Amino acid sequence: MNKVITEKKECPDISIIVSMYNEEESLPSFFKAIAETMAQLASYSYEIVCIDDGSTDGTYDLLEQYAAEDRRIKILKFSRNFGKEYGLMAGFKYCKGRAAVPIDVDLQDPPELIIEFVKKWEEGFEMVYGIRNDRSSDSFMKRLTAALFYKIYNFMTRSPIPYNAGDYRLIDRRVVNAISELQERNIFMKGIFGWTGFKSCGVKYVRQKRKTGISKWNYWKLWNFALDGITASTTLPLRIWTYFGSLLSFLGVLYAFYIIIRTMIYGVDVPGYASLLVFILLLGGVQMIILGILGEYIGRIFIEVKRRPLYLIEKRVNVDDDD
Ligand code: UDP
Ligand code: MG
Repeated sequence: MNKVITEKKECPDISIIVSMYNEEESLPSFFKAIAETMAQLASYSYEIVCIDDGSTDGTYDLLEQYAAEDRRIKILKFSRNFGKEYGLMAGFKYCKGRAAVPIDVDLQDPPELIIEFVKKWEEGFEMVYGIRNDRSSDSFMKRLTAALFYKIYNFMTRSPIPYNAGDYRLIDRRVVNAISELQERNIFMKGIFGWTGFKSCGVKYVRQKRKTGISKWNYWKLWNFALDGITASTTLPLRIWTYFGSLLSFLGVLYAFYIIIRTMIYGVDVPGYASLLVFILLLGGVQMIILGILGEYIGRIFIEVKRRPLYLIEKRVNVDDDD
């Protein structure tokens, strides 16, 4: 058997954080690619914090084998599938590095980019994010909806997110600490990254097609993801109705005056049934939409006030108990 690779006592320079859900096929190529990249950054020590997000295939067993041979590979095994954002949150909390790099296990984010990230980090940037400058690996619909989402999101918030930047980035310890302190359950990672501020810059890259396994996203999930993103970052959808309602009331008053004056001049006149019905239906619809928006927020407030833990860890490997 190979010699077990041990870890130096002091904190590593870079923590690679990877959340995975049913990814046994992707693991070998992932570890290989990371090892190759980190070999080019030989002066930097590193750890790989793997979060097994409740996989039901052989992901965990395989991870354990890797971790037994290399102590720099840490495992946090969730008690069930909580979702990638929670995996990353756990990674940020347990990682020890001076910088952290959240990355996908499917190699859609090329690991070589870490070298570039580190270069920028050394120049003093506290957050270096990857920008996908070519999304031809995504379908037209996905690109269109993504573009629309960025437009709407950035219009509504005070901490805009860079166009086409994903979770793949390098973040300095200061930012990691800031994120670890957050207590919220409705996590929209990109929004949180944007919210932290700090000195940031982007590095362009081409997002690859998934090498192995399948993506766990579909349009319904993406839609909910977008809703989470917006409701977690801005209350504008709640507030605009004050203005819409005010405008409508104002127009209503004007119209009332118009009818009063017209009646005084021309006498009583009853037609208008059709327009009345249209208005009632339209306003009824608008009110229901507003109720729905209220519901989106109230549902999330409900989740937040319960203050449940973000995730439950069933098992840890190569992670000290005092953490
Ligand atoms: N993932 C996860 N929990 C989930 C779904 C996905 O940890 O519930 C991980 C997955 O294993 C991968 C990353 O999140 O490492 C990105 O997932 P995926 O490739 O399915 O998303 P896409 O790249 O299509 O956005
Ligand atoms: Mg992927």
